[in-house]
Amino acid sequence: MKILVLVHNGPDGKIAKAALEAVGAAQSLGGEISAVNPVGDVPLHSLDVPALATAIKSSGADIVIAPGTSRFARSLPAAAFRAGAEIDTHITAVSNGPEGVTAQRWAYRQRILCTITRSARPWVLMTDCGVFAPAEEGSFTVENAAPVQATASSECLGTQAAVAGEQTIRPDAEVLFVAGAGWTKKQADGATHPGEAAALIKDFLAASGASLGSSKSLVEIGDEAKEAFGFMSHMNQVGQTGATPRHKKGLSTCCHGEEPHVVGWRFITERRAVNIDANCGWAQGKADVLYVADAFKVMSLVNGMLKP
Ligand SMILES: Cc1cc2nc3c(=O)[nH]c(=O)nc-3n(C[C@H](O)[C@H](O)[C@H](O)COP(=O)(O)OP(=O)(O)OC[C@H]3O[C@@H](n4cnc5c(N)ncnc54)[C@H](O)[C@@H]3O)c2cc1C
Repeated sequence: MKILVLVHNGPDGKIAKAALEAVGAAQSLGGEISAVNPVGDVPLHSLDVPALATAIKSSGADIVIAPGTSRFARSLPAAAFRAGAEIDTHITAVSNGPEGVTAQRWAYRQRILCTITRSARPWVLMTDCGVFAPAEEGSFTVENAAPVQATASSECLGTQAAVAGEQTIRPDAEVLFVAGAGWTKKQADGATHPGEAAALIKDFLAASGASLGSSKSLVEIGDEAKEAFGFMSHMNQVGQTGATPRHKKGLSTCCHGEEPHVVGWRFITERRAVNIDANCGWAQGKADVLYVADAFKVMSLVNGMLKP
């Protein structure tokens, strides 16, 4: 079985971590593996699609594995179509057994786990980020394919983070930090402190490199608090109608831990929460450790400890 792994570099010019994970997934299947970077460092859809299609067609591979980065998620389905390949996305497991290659993905918002196999070749599998063990550096080599002769229909003028100011969603981070609506609620002194809350959260993110998640209630707040929390958007929302991040560790603050929120934590195995309410949802078996404490005081102390 011939396996092609498609990779691209990250913004730092090095092979993206998600791409190492895709190589790891390919290595777990066995077979003859070649890793190719067919795209340039500047993500341009009109160049990426023909480059990826050419790489798939010319490889003669049976299975093509690629990381589900935002860049490949935009261009690879179109490239697979051009190359006459079948494609499945959001792959969370692959195996090679008596039935040949099978892949798994979740459906219906992580409620149904599907195992898929296809007879069509080439079969493109786009892996979810943060699921597969990354390949060891040095265990493979990446071939840089010759640039494809195509004309870009767009010009790259620069890059801008999706969230104003800074990028707060970091799939590669060690820890997911979740902020809930409690940060905007009246505190013991009878007043709200959205500015102080936002500063504590931003300082923690800067010092720890954690990824920022939110409850639905916090991303839907209005007026004064909205201004202070301008660095958050619905993209940060975790839960039933939000995202299902895959960080190993999670810390929830000022969030009640209601079921529609906590279902978004299903892949987070080490969970801690800070809440002033000893009977909050996290206390009902949803967190490993619940600190019954004021998150303003806790995070101020934590930030002090993180200062260099
Ligand atoms: C169909 C449906 C889908 C939904 N989908 C989602 C979803 O995807 N994601 C989601 O998050 N929610 C979702 N919800 C909403 C969910 O049910 C809750 O309403 C929401 O999660 C509550 O957000 P919260 O815990 O931040 O706010 P609150 O319920 O207001 O809780 C605030 C918490 O902060 C604590 N607190 C206040 N001050 C402090 C302090 N100083 N220190 C420590 N703790 C403090 C309080 O004790 C309280 O527990 C959904 C609801 C429905 C009906």
